[in-house]
Amino acid sequence: MNARELTELAVSCGATSAALMQGSQIVLNAEYRAMCEANRCGVYGKCYMCPPDAGPIDELMARITRYKNAILFQTVTQLEDSFDIEGMTAARKNLVKVSERLRDQLIPLLPAPALLLSAGGCGICEECGKVSGVPCRFPERAMASLESYGIDVSRTSRNAGLRYNNGAGTVTYFGMILFGACCVIQDAFL
Ligand code: SF4
Repeated sequence: MNARELTELAVSCGATSAALMQGSQIVLNAEYRAMCEANRCGVYGKCYMCPPDAGPIDELMARITRYKNAILFQTVTQLEDSFDIEGMTAARKNLVKVSERLRDQLIPLLPAPALLLSAGGCGICEECGKVSGVPCRFPERAMASLESYGIDVSRTSRNAGLRYNNGAGTVTYFGMILFGACCVIQDAFL
């Protein structure tokens, strides 16, 4: 399998586009934790995969640097207008489905270990068990966000050659699979 086949598989799983990149191209910024703490998304402290439960930012960023390779993928969804909250919610749910398909179909093909990150917290359950105080219902499926690990998605997507903003009336969500701790994948492998 080569880089083109990898990205084609990601698209067949529902991603709009995807790119193979080196781990060293991922831009990290600890200040993202302050943005989570500002709780503009309203999920801070309400999801096991979000801060503060996700863990200290320095530890999570250090974890990112252990991976030599990553596949950055995105979904781009057309909205009716910039107030189309239903459309944004549907787009977010679609990203969760795409991420799960990638975990099932793509990660088994990659050199271990691998880590799947998505957007905006976990999203597997309608309401995280954290809210009602029950343990995580699907710990093997739970996903943290790129931002909770300190990834600067805008600059990282530029390094990967993917557009961060895909135009007026669209919403773009990103996810990432980090993989391989021993060597950089150039192109053909497996
Ligand atoms: S799988 Fe469900 S309970 Fe577990 S972190 Fe995700 S949303 Fe929360």
